[in-house]
Amino acid sequence: MKHRNQVFDNVLDLVGNTPLIKLNKIASKFKGNFYAKVESFNPGHSSKDRIALYIIEQAEKKGILTPGDTIIETTSGNTGFSIAMVSIIKGYDCVLAVSSKSSADKIDMLKTMGAKVYVCPAHVSADDPRSYYQVAKRLHEEIKGSVYINQYFNELNIDAHYKSTGPEIWKQTEGKITHLVACSGTGGTISGTARYLKEQNPKIKVIGVDAFGSVIKKYHETREFDEKEIYPYRIEGLGKNLIPSATDFDVVDEFVKVTDEESAHTARLIAKSEGLFVGYTSGAAMQAIMQLGEGGEFKEGDNIVIIFPDHGSRYMSKVYSDKWMTEQGFFDSKNEAAAQRIQY
Ligand code: PMP
Repeated sequence: MKHRNQVFDNVLDLVGNTPLIKLNKIASKFKGNFYAKVESFNPGHSSKDRIALYIIEQAEKKGILTPGDTIIETTSGNTGFSIAMVSIIKGYDCVLAVSSKSSADKIDMLKTMGAKVYVCPAHVSADDPRSYYQVAKRLHEEIKGSVYINQYFNELNIDAHYKSTGPEIWKQTEGKITHLVACSGTGGTISGTARYLKEQNPKIKVIGVDAFGSVIKKYHETREFDEKEIYPYRIEGLGKNLIPSATDFDVVDEFVKVTDEESAHTARLIAKSEGLFVGYTSGAAMQAIMQLGEGGEFKEGDNIVIIFPDHGSRYMSKVYSDKWMTEQGFFDSKNEAAAQRIQY
């Protein structure tokens, strides 16, 4: 492993080996020690650097990808940024089908990183020809020699975290981790990390974070896809309206649902209390900790690791905009728990 005081060949050498940072204030009313795995320290500012680099290098090893080829993906932004970054260094074209729910900042950033971006409507079903899945599929068929990363249905997404995030956390906690709390979108992060950690110690409790409006938690409990669970929500990158095969439901002990509103306030609270400027889903993961803590989940001596997937700068026009928060009604909440957390 290289250290930060060395000279690096290129930006990709800095992917992974993110720090584990103790949270000293935000959860101090609960028993246990809380640590954040802060993925914004990746060069692309999110955990998605890990899967982009890993999946592309696996394709190269198999001879599927050669320089000049096109890489296609559906993405809420972060994976796209990471693929674009890897593509620049390795000489690929990057084509992205993006949800219209993604922030304008994210879309501009992808273009800055040389990607060709197709913006697709967010609230259509996955099999609608306008959905970003179908658009990506069509582009893959049309562009000769293209590779479709397909992060929601790619086992390598799990492997990337099994080979990097899991071992890093095990080493950083010296094997003392008792709980892992992580958001589930594709499910790659929680599945790969938990699979590795549970192989080391099956007693580690793994808690996934899901959104209201997503089918993931219900599917985990019933193994049934319940369409009635689906409705629009605002958090990007968390939860889903389909069941991704990149989620290994067997390594997750339980899922906790969080609201858009409480997650937004908790994201702001992380910045104010810990000096960590992280994204909306980091707020969601921390919000899950609040709910679990209030339910008496943690005891003295527990070592709880929470994954903070990305950086706050990607949400300046959303969670970190007072105007946006006001427009959502998040500053005049009727939700008491959320209102209490505004007092930061
Ligand atoms: N947070 C953000 C901001 C994301 O973009 C994603 C990925 N969709 C996640 C969390 C969830 O990670 P995963 O896809 O590995 O479940």
